[in-house]
Amino acid sequence: MFSFSLSIFGCQMNYADAEIITASLQKIGGQKIPLSPQSDVIIVVSCGVRQGAEERIINWTQKLRQKNSAAIIILTGCLSHRVDIQERLAFTNIFFTPINRWSEQIKKLTTIFQPEITSNGSCQDDFYSIKADYSSHYRAYLPIVTGCNNFCAYCVVPYARGPEISRSPELLLAEITKLIKKGYKEIFLLGQNVNSYQGLDQKKQKWNFARLLRAINAIPGNFWIRFLSSHPKDLDQNFIETLQNCPKISRQLHLPIQSGSNRILAKMNRRYTREDYFEIIKQIRASIPNIILSTDILVGFPNESEADFQDSLTLVKKVGFEKLYALKYSPRPETAAYLYPDNVSTKTKKKRQQILDQTWQKIAEKQNQKYLNREIIILIDKIQKKADQKWIIGKNLDNKDVIGVISNKTKTPKIGQWAKIKIEQTGSLGLRGKFISAF
Ligand code: SAH
Ligand code: SF4
Repeated sequence: MFSFSLSIFGCQMNYADAEIITASLQKIGGQKIPLSPQSDVIIVVSCGVRQGAEERIINWTQKLRQKNSAAIIILTGCLSHRVDIQERLAFTNIFFTPINRWSEQIKKLTTIFQPEITSNGSCQDDFYSIKADYSSHYRAYLPIVTGCNNFCAYCVVPYARGPEISRSPELLLAEITKLIKKGYKEIFLLGQNVNSYQGLDQKKQKWNFARLLRAINAIPGNFWIRFLSSHPKDLDQNFIETLQNCPKISRQLHLPIQSGSNRILAKMNRRYTREDYFEIIKQIRASIPNIILSTDILVGFPNESEADFQDSLTLVKKVGFEKLYALKYSPRPETAAYLYPDNVSTKTKKKRQQILDQTWQKIAEKQNQKYLNREIIILIDKIQKKADQKWIIGKNLDNKDVIGVISNKTKTPKIGQWAKIKIEQTGSLGLRGKFISAF
């Protein structure tokens, strides 16, 4: 028996990976404990998307080593393959493993802890065939595609996670059916580019993302389906019709554009133009007029001029994104753009980020008014109490953040239940209303 704990940075994919890591370590006799430097094994699931995260993770890993000189530290995730990081952390004597080579670590750990293996431990070769140990009892994150083949000029993911691999549709459907029977209410599908899903079934037939979505939607039960992220170059009419016809799928689509300037989009290697993007939006809105759109925009990519930024701004206004993640460009070793000068000042990046934030918030403020006086269903994520007040926090199927105030006499509902809320107030960041009932 050995104890292990996890320290997770970055995106939802890393959290999903951590649930699989947990299951794989439990198989070889590991016992998960809350994050503690005193664990026998500490797994740092790292993020390499921006420089700031990289520095934080290196410092954090060094601190862990200082607090426990004997622990086995494993650095995995999107920094672990980088030779310069391995050299910087070499003195801490840790293992480095990209997630697609996780089985190497399991083999090493099995050797180290061999005498103490208590369960029927095994070394699984394929990381994504291991069944996750989900940390939530009502929302399950399932990676459906891992890795990426797109090589956008700014992005580390193809280097860190390797080529795109799709999980088998049968494996996913069996897992989701089991989760729904257990009472899970939200199935969250993950991939760097879910729309390029190409799972092979046992008959060697290829499934695309639309087919997978339709099959999940057909599983009996009351549940929601969400997914992240979609790449504009891979959206097609079949997918749009699937969204239109499958009521369990969220009507909110996160479609990262990254820039509204054709010059920058070409330099980024995104393989679409702003005109292509407008065309996709037109097609989606023709089928699903009330679709809610969100996006990611990188500000300050090398040589991004004021005119390029204005192209991003006009695009945001024209599409009417109700949420937008504006991210300051950060040069990443290995990527194509690393060779270009990072020549947009931090001040300008910040300014552009602020302008984009103000813009989407204004759009959201206006759009959110349509919820006023409506009764909506949310999935409860948090319950908070303060003095003589209590309220619940959750999201509806449109992915809006909602607060529901509970009167003192009402029985407090539970996290993971559905709740009906009557909306009484709306703003740019979400909705607020009166809790009516939970079920
Ligand atoms: N696969 C998704 C995005 C994955 S990375 C897509 O194709 O859009 C998540 C977000 O991190 C990206 O949308 C991008 O805006 C941001 N990002 C990626 N590389 C970055 C970098 N070098 N600097 C700053 N932000 C970056
Ligand atoms: Fe990175 Fe582009 Fe792949 Fe997204 S599609 S993960 S931005 S390389």
